Amino acid sequence: MNRRNFVHYSALAVGSVSLINHPLFAQLAADDPYKMKMVRDTVGVFTEKGGTIAYLRTKEGWVVVDTEFPEQAQHLIGALKKTSDIPIHLLINTHHHGDHTGGNIAFKGLVEQVVAHENSLKNQKAVAEKAKTEDKQLYPDTTFSQGWKKKVGGESIRAYYYGPGHTDGDGLIHFENANVLHMGDLMSNRRYPFIDRSAGASIKNWITILDKTLTTFDGKTLFVFGHAFDPEKVTGGKEDIKAFKDYLEKLLVFVGQEIKAGKSKEEVLKVTAIPGVTEWQGDGIVRSLQAAYEELTA
Ligand SMILES: [Zn+2]
Ligand SMILES: [Zn+2]
Repeated sequence: MNRRNFVHYSALAVGSVSLINHPLFAQLAADDPYKMKMVRDTVGVFTEKGGTIAYLRTKEGWVVVDTEFPEQAQHLIGALKKTSDIPIHLLINTHHHGDHTGGNIAFKGLVEQVVAHENSLKNQKAVAEKAKTEDKQLYPDTTFSQGWKKKVGGESIRAYYYGPGHTDGDGLIHFENANVLHMGDLMSNRRYPFIDRSAGASIKNWITILDKTLTTFDGKTLFVFGHAFDPEKVTGGKEDIKAFKDYLEKLLVFVGQEIKAGKSKEEVLKVTAIPGVTEWQGDGIVRSLQAAYEELTA
């Protein structure tokens, strides 16, 4: 639960008359737990808990990229239905993690097609089987390996795959006419990323993916980020991608030097700052250090 929701729910839980009459409480209670913001004429972003969702409005219906968790997905579906009675046509997952596919189940019976990279499906199945949550999944029915393309109501949607990065199944989803690219967790804006080695992540190739992203898409592209330290900054431009690429490069160089200097894994994991990195925050630096150490010593 983020801080804002915590304040919201605490106020509700107390529920005293004095609080209800408080102007701040009235404002919070009237507020939805989620945020929706249009970033282009036909494209918006939804944030509440988990990875950023993008939605596209077309003549044929809504296209949704990622689903957070079931409760959040219900909030999104409710809000989209309020906006327009067009159907929800297509759902795409950037990758398998639960904060991006957990809400898929809310779309069961609503969407005609669910699309993801083939490794995203493989990983989603493996995690669900292990956690015995298979009945809570809605799996992709359409998978791609190198890429995928579909025209929906005047918009052209294309998925790209550049190999392992955050996992081994991360797709980049481009709404070509609107020129919006959902990067999923291949982009963690100013926040220490999760690097999922259990799902085939590669920091080295992740840097290459970011390079390819910078050359494939033009200067007018609006990029949607899976996560951001500042919740207002879940979208951005190429300078943000360059900054994240610089973070991953400095991480690999630093941990490589530590290994060469004979440092043990335990010593490396105790590090609290990576030299030259000033903008990345959060409490997940150890996840970066551990993934880099394991990748470099594998
Ligand atoms: Zn995520
Ligand atoms: Zn993820």
